[in-house]
Amino acid sequence: MNNQEVLRTVREAGVVGAGGAGFPTYKKLEAQVSHIIANGAECEPLLQKDRESMRQDREAFFHGLSVMQETSGARQVTIAIKRKNEDLADWMRSEAQEAGYEFFIYEDVYPAGDEYVLVYEITGRQIPPGGLPLHVDCVVDNVETIINVGKAIRGTPVTHKYLTVTGAVREPLTTVVPIGTRFEDCLRAAGGCTVDDPTYLVSGVMMGGVSRDACDPVTKTTAGIIVLPSDHYLVRRKTASRETYTRIGHGQCDQCSLCTELCPRYILGYPIEPHRVMRTLLMTGEAKARGSLWAQYCCECNICSYIACPESLDPKNICVDAKALLRQNQLGRTPAELEQLFRPPHPARHGREVPIKTLYRRLGLDPYDHKAPFAPRDWEPREVSIPLNTHVGQPGRPLVSVGDAVTAGMKIADVDPGKLGCPVHASVSGRVTAISATRIDITSN
Ligand code: SF4
Ligand code: SF4
Repeated sequence: MNNQEVLRTVREAGVVGAGGAGFPTYKKLEAQVSHIIANGAECEPLLQKDRESMRQDREAFFHGLSVMQETSGARQVTIAIKRKNEDLADWMRSEAQEAGYEFFIYEDVYPAGDEYVLVYEITGRQIPPGGLPLHVDCVVDNVETIINVGKAIRGTPVTHKYLTVTGAVREPLTTVVPIGTRFEDCLRAAGGCTVDDPTYLVSGVMMGGVSRDACDPVTKTTAGIIVLPSDHYLVRRKTASRETYTRIGHGQCDQCSLCTELCPRYILGYPIEPHRVMRTLLMTGEAKARGSLWAQYCCECNICSYIACPESLDPKNICVDAKALLRQNQLGRTPAELEQLFRPPHPARHGREVPIKTLYRRLGLDPYDHKAPFAPRDWEPREVSIPLNTHVGQPGRPLVSVGDAVTAGMKIADVDPGKLGCPVHASVSGRVTAISATRIDITSN
């Protein structure tokens, strides 16, 4: 296959980033780079889906990597994993050595899987503020995305998703399910919830979202479902209203600046200083806008809010609001400002990284620190609800109608030619029962 055929095949298979925002992979593959980093440094507490996807789909993983290397012209390939998963390096060493790939083992800290952190650790290059790995001649892809590239080249579109189901469930597990499977089916496979009033943290306790709806579907980017009781500290933090976190932050921030001192992006040299953004709670107009610029490069990792702040304030959400203000007013740092403010990483950076064990203790997660072994299931959900809008770009436009019979792997939605986005495929065989702007429901045969 030539490069154009690879890009077309990866697009047609609906491959998007499986570990983040769902950026279409064919678009990333268009770039010529010198270094590919396979990101298996899963750093969200409790999740084990990257580890298990490499174990279960090792052949597709190496095939995907070789295709990506050839397409991008990369001379170097590095597989990044966490210290706790070091055994994977031994397990994959022969294939890696044969292909000339290297391993990078990162300590069990958070946020090790941030691509800015990984690129710096592996190459010594700092991605420019607001930039992409591409700007320093690298591409970073989640290991499951790479597996999906390997499968796409062999003719299999993206119909299934690896995820970990853990937290307050009887039998935590990692598995692979048809996309569109409802949370309630995943929870049943994990033995059910052990709490009466569950809340679901979706894709991570640090950066993930919150759901209380067991009928929500697994998407191409769902990394896990973490069940917590609704009165858990993290649920209360994540569901606090803007009015609440703004009012408390306004009254209680003493400007100790610990949020800045522990901010992973600040200690990596970026002009992000959340304690200065907290000051904007006291400001209006021009002064507020200028102060908000210190939020521009926040990656929303939540270290400042959940770990650093001794008052349990919420600088992360204040930064999110400040970034919205900047976008609304089309404001940003000038190149001259960036030249002055973008620095080399802090010399004490490694001493300020947050060990995962600290996260567990501080966030009340120790009771849920269980293994979630891979459990192959004969998944036959009665109904799936396949999302059309979980990739970056234009949402999928349905190609089927209510009542149509579909088979697993069939293309059921696509984006307009020339638009960013990917097709969507049926994950089970059955009949289309409902179509909305965001989903196609299929009842299986
Ligand atoms: S969430 Fe907080 S710690 Fe994380 S990048 Fe933003 S300001 Fe820094
Ligand atoms: S750590 Fe908390 S109290 Fe200290 S400056 Fe940051 S938000 Fe304010």
